[in-house]
Amino acid sequence: MPEPASQSSVLSFEQARAVVEREAAKVRRAESEGAELLRAAGRVLAEAIVADRDFPPFRRAARDGFAVRAGDAAGAPVTLRVIGEVRAGGPEAHLEVRAGEAAEIMTGAPLPAGADAVVMVEYTSRSGDSVDIQRSVQAGENFVPAGAEAKRGDLLLAQGTRLAPAAIAIAAACGRHEVNVFRRPRVAILSTGDELVEIAAGPRPNQIRNSNSYSLAAQVERVGGDAVILPIAPDEPQALRKLLQEGLASDLLLLSGGVSMGKYDLVEPVLSEMGAQFFFTGAQIQPGKPIVFGAAPASSGARPAYFFGLPGNPVSTMVCFELFARTLLDALAGASPRPLQFAHARSKAAVKTKPGLTRFLPAILSGEHRQAEVELVKWQGSGDMAANARANCYLVVPPDRPEIKSGEMVSVLLP
Ligand code: AMP
Ligand code: MG
Repeated sequence: MPEPASQSSVLSFEQARAVVEREAAKVRRAESEGAELLRAAGRVLAEAIVADRDFPPFRRAARDGFAVRAGDAAGAPVTLRVIGEVRAGGPEAHLEVRAGEAAEIMTGAPLPAGADAVVMVEYTSRSGDSVDIQRSVQAGENFVPAGAEAKRGDLLLAQGTRLAPAAIAIAAACGRHEVNVFRRPRVAILSTGDELVEIAAGPRPNQIRNSNSYSLAAQVERVGGDAVILPIAPDEPQALRKLLQEGLASDLLLLSGGVSMGKYDLVEPVLSEMGAQFFFTGAQIQPGKPIVFGAAPASSGARPAYFFGLPGNPVSTMVCFELFARTLLDALAGASPRPLQFAHARSKAAVKTKPGLTRFLPAILSGEHRQAEVELVKWQGSGDMAANARANCYLVVPPDRPEIKSGEMVSVLLP
């Protein structure tokens, strides 16, 4: 039987986060590939995207109305002569607005030469070739100057930007039907436990279906990783070691189970034998206290890969992924660091816990805008995946708070 890991250290939640962030900052992503813009949502930019023209490219009308010289409208009400119409996508500008003149203009159209403001159609009244302007305007009103949003050559999207819909819009507006993105990191997923069976198999009464490999794969894929599920590892050192070696050949290895204090919890001792370095071997959190983070070579001489030993209880596995593994995966994907996302909401009921641990308890966030409320889901502890599936967030209980009062504002972690 291998010796237990000697480098044990149990950190506070903040300390553990700081360690993961420190390691994430060391990761350098190199390989990139081209991706069609249509398929690039959620991927991470391996290049910077700069404006290929001014945004907007011309003085863009922001209202429907009449393009005028503000000086002419100063003495409103005034009557101006209408010299024509400019609309978005109309023939290229040929009009010039001179003193005493106005041009009818539509939102999105280029302001004609000579004009320096748009009077909203609501403040005008048209009759034949003339228009009555009922309100004065300031020069510069109701249009966006050329290049006001970005000048040609300005940085619009930095390398490391995750392509959310708003970023996709920018790439499209710069004419990029293909973009350079980082290769998706390969994440090996290894569930351990003699009680586990593949989901296709009929479990005997004492067996449990391996659900963690699937929840983890879904979490990995959701943040742009390429998940590879390895066969279930038994609680036996030789077989475990072989699968660990296979998993460590990936960019990241996520283990589930086998990290507690039990006699058959072999993940740490076997990794230790394989030359692993442990950054921490536990965090003062619930669920997920036994979480392990480290790096180990797949075989002697190989470059070490990061691993997380996630506690096997299904809620712990998922919470620990969100709290820690996701940050490292973001870095491996080449993405700029993204902080954990918290919202604030009023607790619908009192929450009593023993102090000492930072807790992330499955909860339901409801109500919109100023009425956000949160309520714990009733659960049977960190093995209760049914309760977790009813939750849409985690209510955060700080370690120094034995009680949160009903009606108190609390933080919730958004997955
Ligand atoms: P462990 O962390 O190995 O002590 O496992 C803690 C609990 O989680 C036990 O009840 C296990 O049966 C359960 N568990 C471990 N791994 C999995 C898995 N891959 N899928 C579902 N449940 C699991
Ligand atoms: Mg186990």
